[in-house]
Amino acid sequence: GTQKARTGRLKKPFVKVEDTCQLYRPFYLQLTNMPLINYSIQKPSSPFDVDKPSSIQKQTQVKLRIQTDGNKGGGIPVQLQLKEKKKKGYCECCLQKYEDLETHLLSEQHRNFAQSSHYQVVDDIVSKLIFDFVEYERDMPKKKRIKYSI
Ligand SMILES: [Zn+2]
Repeated sequence: GTQKARTGRLKKPFVKVEDTCQLYRPFYLQLTNMPLINYSIQKPSSPFDVDKPSSIQKQTQVKLRIQTDGNKGGGIPVQLQLKEKKKKGYCECCLQKYEDLETHLLSEQHRNFAQSSHYQVVDDIVSKLIFDFVEYERDMPKKKRIKYSI
């Protein structure tokens, strides 16, 4: 019952892009305000930054509230935690979308790829480079470093 009429005209203002052969679906941009070059905004801000003081204030207020709530729980603000937890994306090795990066990296499919010989193309290029750093031996934990004092 939620099917809307699929015919009609776009609400203004809009941008509509379609291929001239009309083989693909058009795509649209509809905004209440089209971008406007704002010369009065301070450099190096983007001239397309809209300085709507009311909406910006609201946003920062919300952020602050969330952060203070998170600090009660312990240390890291809630927003940061969420951002770090949920890194969505697409893995080009597995040809797979993932909801959480860390979880995907631990999946069997990805680990198999990571340990496979698929990186030979990278290693072939690396093998042409010259290693000219100083390579130290691994630090032995037993050895005490001499501390100099003045
Ligand atoms: Zn993967």
